[in-house]
Amino acid sequence: MAKYVYLFNEGNASMKNLLGGKGANLAEMTSLGMPVPRGFTVTTEACTRYYEDGMEISSEIVEEINQMLLKTEETVGKHFGDSSNPFLVSVRSGARASMPGMMDTILNLGLNDEVVEGLAKLTSNERFAFDSYRRFIQMFGDVVMEIEKSKFDKILSDVKHEAGAKFDTDLNAENLREVVKRYKKLFFEEKGFDFPQEPKEQLMDAIMAVFRSWENPRAIIYRRLNEIPSNWGTAVNVQEMVYGNMGNDSGTGVAFTRNPSTGEKKLFGEFLINAQGEDVVAGIRTPQSIEQLKEVMPRVYDEFAKIALSLDNHYRDMQDMEFTIEKGKLFMLQTRNGKRTANAALKIAVDLVEAGVISKEEAILRVDPKQLDSLLHPNFDPSELKKAVPIGKGLPASPGAGSGKIFFTAEDAANAVKGGEKAVILVRLETSPEDIEGMHVSRGILTGRGGMTSHAAVVARGMGTCCVAGCSDLRINEEGKFFIDKNGKKYIEGDWISIEGSTGNVYAGKLPTVESTMTNDFTTLMSWADGARRLEVRANADTPNDAVQAMRFGAQGIGLCRTEHMFFETDRIFAMREMIVARTQEQRSKALAKLLPIQRGDFEELFKAMKGFPVTIRFLDPPLHEFLPQLDEDIKDLAKEMSIEYDELKAIIADLHEFNPMMGHRGCRLAVTYPEIAEMQTRAVIEAAINVNKQGMDVIPEIMIPLVGEVRELKYVKDIVVSTADRILKEQGVELHYKVGTMIEIPRAALLADEIAKEAEFFSFGTNDLTQMTFGFSRDDSGKFLDEYYAKKIYESDPFARLDQDGVGKLMSMAAELGKKVRPDIKLGICGEHGGDPSSVEFCHRIGLNYVSCSPFRVPIARLAAAQAALKEKGYK
Ligand code: PEP
Ligand code: MG
Repeated sequence: MAKYVYLFNEGNASMKNLLGGKGANLAEMTSLGMPVPRGFTVTTEACTRYYEDGMEISSEIVEEINQMLLKTEETVGKHFGDSSNPFLVSVRSGARASMPGMMDTILNLGLNDEVVEGLAKLTSNERFAFDSYRRFIQMFGDVVMEIEKSKFDKILSDVKHEAGAKFDTDLNAENLREVVKRYKKLFFEEKGFDFPQEPKEQLMDAIMAVFRSWENPRAIIYRRLNEIPSNWGTAVNVQEMVYGNMGNDSGTGVAFTRNPSTGEKKLFGEFLINAQGEDVVAGIRTPQSIEQLKEVMPRVYDEFAKIALSLDNHYRDMQDMEFTIEKGKLFMLQTRNGKRTANAALKIAVDLVEAGVISKEEAILRVDPKQLDSLLHPNFDPSELKKAVPIGKGLPASPGAGSGKIFFTAEDAANAVKGGEKAVILVRLETSPEDIEGMHVSRGILTGRGGMTSHAAVVARGMGTCCVAGCSDLRINEEGKFFIDKNGKKYIEGDWISIEGSTGNVYAGKLPTVESTMTNDFTTLMSWADGARRLEVRANADTPNDAVQAMRFGAQGIGLCRTEHMFFETDRIFAMREMIVARTQEQRSKALAKLLPIQRGDFEELFKAMKGFPVTIRFLDPPLHEFLPQLDEDIKDLAKEMSIEYDELKAIIADLHEFNPMMGHRGCRLAVTYPEIAEMQTRAVIEAAINVNKQGMDVIPEIMIPLVGEVRELKYVKDIVVSTADRILKEQGVELHYKVGTMIEIPRAALLADEIAKEAEFFSFGTNDLTQMTFGFSRDDSGKFLDEYYAKKIYESDPFARLDQDGVGKLMSMAAELGKKVRPDIKLGICGEHGGDPSSVEFCHRIGLNYVSCSPFRVPIARLAAAQAALKEKGYK
């Protein structure tokens, strides 16, 4: 029979899948003899079973919980409902992967009208007892019974107002009794029955509510962003309560064994005297730094520092710990590998290798490739920054810099981005887990309250988004959607501000940014990664600037140069339009002749920037109408410049209209209908290569034909390429090695890849189009309905961001195999967006591709992901 409940002394750290991260680590700390309040864990399997049983908890599980409860009561020597010596517990979620603040917690469970009086007597502290009871009613009401939290908040602030209290701590026992009375009345009004008085009933209801919180909207979004499968479920930890709110010899805090922003090996954290757990993370009161604990409670500090060090050694990684001090006694409530900034992650990994604690391979696997993103983005231009005067200063909660238009709710921020706004800064008094989506789309997060471990700070660091927290210089009015800076100036929704997460400074307006600099730790770790990977990493780059950036980030070539992007600049678009509207081959050739030198020049620059690394140049691909003017005025201008009638041009443009351009006249179909385009592009590539090779380089250009679905269309275009190239080489009397290959981006090409390989020296998987055509939905429009698919659990992630390994991936691995059968030395790569997505990179490694190609900023991510894929294949974890 399956076991669904484990006492803390029955488990260990390796049982994460079953006990969740929190449960497994509580068990581990218990076995290490650390002061952990006693309790038990209801497993993740019990959670999945709860859902399988139609959201009901089976009698078998209830029975096991009751048994473990009894055992715990016996060890602790207290019992549920015993008002002379009451047993109270916390009920907390804990999934396999940490999901900070995403699911629910209930404290002080076991209290009722009788027990609260007993607790008051036992502790000789009536105020404490009623403070605990009112917190319990509120949490239970909110989490289990879904009564709006704001209704409880309103009662609390009414009583505060009536009592003339400024802070919660100013309320006396009498006031808190009143709060409890009003909370219970609210409960009855909302639910139609009294607040449950039976502790066991409270417990079962609470456990089921935590199970349900696995499916709350913010947890669903968090899982999608962090690629956590929805079938994992959450465990529930039931633990004896200890109290940080028993007076000035009590307190609660959060600390890290190393600095989570910089990685420095030094205890870092915050605590609050006379407070309970959620007060620290909620950011309602501003906490003191852990250093101060040394002064206030030196003995407790020493004990805590010793435990922190041994946890860091034991887990061989930075730990994020929660603790409570009850009347001078320390309790450990949680430890886990801490979230950290990318710089801190690199420093910690390299430090641990240098200290001989972990191997290089482990270090490579310790850093989340996606996190590197934050390192590679720009900071403010130092010279501009010198001139700028801050309008406020808060805590430097998450490094980086960002400018954007301000929005005061997460929803407004998310809508602004959906509506096309590129740069958004989310300004809030404090954030809560409901804000997750708005935080994710923002360039920066600014809060008026809260410390370095507030929700905003922790989440922003994990996301790699810059964040200034606790900026009390600004008077933020969320409802009125404005803030007033320290000089009295008002800023409203849509105004620009700039925030610097590494200093905490806030500026008015838009500050220019500069490139980031890479630290030694970055270079060290990346060099280890390069030594470990088999996949090459190239970049998608269309301009010499992109190419320089790509080289800086360690690209080993260009995997995709989209030549059409070269034609949009003002000095070229005219010749391009002339070419498109040409009615005769002669007219078209004339326009192409104008484009030839421009394109040749571009390719020369690109080859030079890439210093002999391979460059894959893709021939013209998009539907031609993308280049044409749409507005009447522009059409008139073009007609004038081309000396043709407006009506004639308008008719030509109308003729080019397509109902479904992405499936229309594009890709290699353009070269089939207008061979002279392929001819011009071949000439530009080959002549550019000859020219730079004359200057001592050794360029081997790779010409790539897009959107092929049939080998004969590839052959047709390839014949044009080869005959043009060979003619030029003969004319010039030079030798040049060049390759001709194709993209695999139409399902038919993947199905017939053996045929296609007869004509292609390389395949590059164009997974943007391949995904679009395999799913049969548009890459541009699917955003409109995919949200519903995530909500209804039809898809867990966006197939355009994360490769659909089952479907699109199957086509890819089949095509790779078929291609190799016909041409064993065929070179295989990917150049769709997935080339920079870590899980997709791992898939590309597994199916034996030679390289991945992605945007320059994602090159380091792909290098690290490729190394991790190689190490995982060798069995490293
Ligand atoms: C692709 O389809 O994956 C691709 C790289 O080409 P584009 O995005 O230019 O269509
Ligand atoms: Mg494509």
